[in-house]
Amino acid sequence: MLAPGRAGPGALVKHNGTALQVDAGRATALRLAEEGTNVGGLTAMLITHHHSDHLLGITDIIITRWAANGPRPYATLPIHCPRGPIVDYLEHLLDHLEPDIQSRIAVSGYPSRPEPDIHVFESSTAKPTPVGTFGDLSVDSIAVDHGDLSPAVAYRFTSPDGVIVISGDTAVCPQLEEFAKGADVLVHEAFSRGQMEALGMPPSRLENITHHHADASAVGAMAARLEVPTLVLTHMVPSPTTAAAKQSFVDEVRSGGYQGDLTIAEDLNVAAIG
Ligand SMILES: [Zn+2]
Ligand SMILES: [Zn+2]
Repeated sequence: MLAPGRAGPGALVKHNGTALQVDAGRATALRLAEEGTNVGGLTAMLITHHHSDHLLGITDIIITRWAANGPRPYATLPIHCPRGPIVDYLEHLLDHLEPDIQSRIAVSGYPSRPEPDIHVFESSTAKPTPVGTFGDLSVDSIAVDHGDLSPAVAYRFTSPDGVIVISGDTAVCPQLEEFAKGADVLVHEAFSRGQMEALGMPPSRLENITHHHADASAVGAMAARLEVPTLVLTHMVPSPTTAAAKQSFVDEVRSGGYQGDLTIAEDLNVAAIG
């Protein structure tokens, strides 16, 4: 849902000059500029699943990166994703911009079309799949439970300084819990059962949501079992635009038993390790 001051879903993982953007919801290019990385400074992108809120900003990043590069030789942006409908989406990402692209090539001397450099991996719920190594960051994925939208994956970033796991969109599920063991930071999506009930959502609809998304109290219980030092909630539903709404997420996570460092994320928040 649109919320003032919040871009669409996304997280930037940086380590020693490597910059990996996970998903790109609306306004991600702008947030990157505000953060100081800028689209030209990205090493690669990683996509979790084919839902529009996570995809809408990819075209903006690619075309802005290419346009800013001008007529110089252009290094295409590597994009990693699980095999599935995202591949077809990425292959046709720029088709609707063809007149713009061709005019820049013909008139302004831009190099050839800025096709995304697509890297596909096989996702599995049974065991982690290596995605790649970027500088001294190694990245693995695991398929998670996002209802009927499959595949959806989580990513684990391992560096000499620590480990970050980003859940993507998922219900609380055992393979993600196994995958997140030993992490220093867990970035997890969540919905607030209390706020949904207060909004009058019927129990059957709420039950249905628990198959796609993560109940904040269950995230808290999982984080407590994992003893992860830092938990960051992101992709919250409903979007917490008031202090009271943020506090209800805190209360639900704490009711699950988690007592560690907890952030209810706002845009441009930073969780540092090492
Ligand atoms: Zn989704
Ligand atoms: Zn989403």
